Amino acid sequence: LKTLTLTHHVAALAFPFGTHAGPLLSLVLRLAATAPHVVFSFITTSKANTSLFSKSLPSSLPNVQAYDILDGLPKGFVPPRNHEVTIGFFLKAAPAYFKRALKDTEAATGLKIGCLVSDAFFWFLEDMAEEMKVPWVPVDHDRCLFMLRQTSFDRGLEPAYGLGFIDLSPSLPAHTATPYPRFVNIPTPISIFLIPGLVFAIWRALRSTDHHRSVSFSMSCQTKSPSEGYSALQACSDGSDVMEERLGSSDKGCNGYGVLGRTGDEEKSLDFLPGFSKVKIPDLPEGILGNSESTVGSLLYKMGQTLPKATAVAINSFEELEPEVVNLLKSRFQKFLNVGPFSLITSSPTPPLIKDDSGCLEWLDKHKPTSVAYISFGSVVAPPPHELAAFAQVLIETGFPFIWSFRGNIEDVLPKGFNKSGLNGKIVPWAPQVQVLGHASTGVFLTHCGWNSILESIVGGVPMICRPFFGDQKLNMNTIEAVWEIGVGIEGGVITKNGVIKALELTLKHKEGNEMREKIKVLKNLAQQAVASNGSSPQAFSTLVEIVTK
Ligand code: UDP
Repeated sequence: LKTLTLTHHVAALAFPFGTHAGPLLSLVLRLAATAPHVVFSFITTSKANTSLFSKSLPSSLPNVQAYDILDGLPKGFVPPRNHEVTIGFFLKAAPAYFKRALKDTEAATGLKIGCLVSDAFFWFLEDMAEEMKVPWVPVDHDRCLFMLRQTSFDRGLEPAYGLGFIDLSPSLPAHTATPYPRFVNIPTPISIFLIPGLVFAIWRALRSTDHHRSVSFSMSCQTKSPSEGYSALQACSDGSDVMEERLGSSDKGCNGYGVLGRTGDEEKSLDFLPGFSKVKIPDLPEGILGNSESTVGSLLYKMGQTLPKATAVAINSFEELEPEVVNLLKSRFQKFLNVGPFSLITSSPTPPLIKDDSGCLEWLDKHKPTSVAYISFGSVVAPPPHELAAFAQVLIETGFPFIWSFRGNIEDVLPKGFNKSGLNGKIVPWAPQVQVLGHASTGVFLTHCGWNSILESIVGGVPMICRPFFGDQKLNMNTIEAVWEIGVGIEGGVITKNGVIKALELTLKHKEGNEMREKIKVLKNLAQQAVASNGSSPQAFSTLVEIVTK
């Protein structure tokens, strides 16, 4: 560090779960290479830093420094299979840990922090950045999670049908500025007794329209206690039409929060949202349709409120992939910067860099073009054992060549007595995914529809078989299947022997698979144009550099 003339200091704060920190580090490394006078403190848990930095940090970038914080877990806590509890502990402790880390890194470098770059989940940094009088640049991981929340919030009930969001909380000044006549000038504080009547009237109005079947709106009211909120919701819901209702409490008070809708709405598309005409209500991430009580639900809610205040929002995507959605978000955010696809720009996978220890690429070299199935469910999802067993059965019976990125003991999912050497493929603990998807022999990708995986599949020109699990994954599947037409969901939504065989045959053997390949080629070309020297992504990156290093 001493040999460099460092004049600026940027803190990058990373979310340590799933594949969030890797792409953020990948972006930070690009920024650091472009701005050698800036020192970047990369702050996340020691576990995440160890895994990222042990393999990936090129020695040529001494201006990126890892700084560890604790994970917030109570002593003796054994993380359950469901990451939500673990994430909850971390998020609760994170603001204080980060505050401390910012001070420590300033002391260590002797430089005041001039910008906060962070995972978009860290909505609380908006306040911190304001206090520090520095720009805040959240980097989003899942393109749609925050967007729908934001869209639904902003649109309110403007079209008198659709996904609406009513928030009567006096602590949300943004709302008084929204241009929806029914909600402007609501005096604050609002009496709880007004809310049921008001919302109920609107609900009635909605139901009386021809569009009532598409109504599914959430509402939130700040009340003194959960039971008051609950009564309010009960009163509004008119009983029979409630699909789901939940109550949550936040640090600002108690929120009654619910989703109202009629059963039978499931097939209704969200055609009132630009770019979402082919998306159906059940495809939406859980947190979007209410449940502000859950860790993810309340996170999304807060993101929806704070992201528009950020100096810029950056994302691992490229503008040409979804122009309509990009335009919508450009109108929502102060700056919306599509600076991806990362895997195409950095010509290396997202950190940690992956060595091909298992010889996947050499093995692929020996196979025919577009003949191999690649299987991975990302870094978090663990499909249930019966689905894994059904999938193993498919591989045994069909003999399709495959590479399976699999964690655990494969003997547990193979039929008793079956020797894995009888399989026509490779089972590896972690694959060099970007290269595997870029290999000519790879013909299809069975994926959980994580955003990084989708972009990498597009860049590799490989159609997808989708088995989404949670978060934005269903929405992503819908886009893959219905909008871009570059993949297919498994019949029945879960892995069954027949369902997967059908999907494999369709994508690897039938003309439909070739048609998908043609369509994905168009997107791949757009991605290549986007990252070309004068393309949209480098232009957005220049803007980012300017903001971050100013
Ligand atoms: N990945 C990999 N090798 C594997 C499995 C996954 O390199 O065997 C990488 C993959 O290239 C992608 C990331 O892990 O960049 C998974 O990210 P995604 O957003 O698809 O899913 P998540 O892990 O967040 O659920």
